[in-house]
Amino acid sequence: MMFTTCRYAKALQLTLAVIKPDAMAHPLILEALHQKILENHFIIIKSKDLVWRREDSQRFYAEHAGRFFYQRLVEFMSSGPMRAYILARENAISQWRELMGPTKVFRARYTAPTSIRGVYGLTDTRNTTHGSDSAQSASREIAFFFPEFNMKEWTEKEEPLVRAGHVVYD
Ligand code: ADP
Repeated sequence: MMFTTCRYAKALQLTLAVIKPDAMAHPLILEALHQKILENHFIIIKSKDLVWRREDSQRFYAEHAGRFFYQRLVEFMSSGPMRAYILARENAISQWRELMGPTKVFRARYTAPTSIRGVYGLTDTRNTTHGSDSAQSASREIAFFFPEFNMKEWTEKEEPLVRAGHVVYD
């Protein structure tokens, strides 16, 4: 039975989740990932499909400039459409990272075979999804993808969050 419960924004944490171009290219994988988000009690605050220019990719991953995989990563992330989500739930950052599994696909296959990267990851670069790794990076990354979103205002909201017709939390 579908039912709706609610949580106050203040009790929740926000994270940025991205479905990378390798997974976006496959509608069934995209759908499976979307279901995974809902099944794991994340509330989708915003989502958008977008394509990066090379410069966006370089700017987002500037901390990796000079690493051996940087050019490959920049090319890949600007190679096709992506879907970005602002997700909310308690411990959203660590929960989404746990669902994704380790960065490197061979490690994901062995240590977390049912994780997103364990199941769908193709290579260490083409690894299906992104997720913020700290509160600080979540703020930066949400602003990067959703400059129009006022995170401070959202976080201080008093009213309950409800998604009619979906179990958003139980
Ligand atoms: P994560 O995405 O798990 O937070 P990092 O921030 O370390 O991982 O790396 C960013 C992205 O760069 C990874 O998701 C992956 O696409 C790519 N990457 C990281 N390490 C490697 C590597 N050793 N070889 C190839 N690509 C890599």
